[in-house]
Amino acid sequence: MGPLPKRKISKGRRNRRRAHHAIGIPRLVSCTQCNAKTLPHRVCPFCGTYMGRMQVVDVEEEEA
Ligand SMILES: [Zn+2]
Repeated sequence: MGPLPKRKISKGRRNRRRAHHAIGIPRLVSCTQCNAKTLPHRVCPFCGTYMGRMQVVDVEEEEA
């Protein structure tokens, strides 16, 4: 036999382990350009800038 767990983890123990796995509320930072609340490490969806740099993405969709 290979290196396997000796016995099945009970539902209770499994669920107790997973009790800590919930994700929290997302943090928001305010855009340095337009002050809107945005997710960190993301291009601002409102003005299209990132870390105060020039506009890096188009805010409006132009492709047909
Ligand atoms: Zn912005």
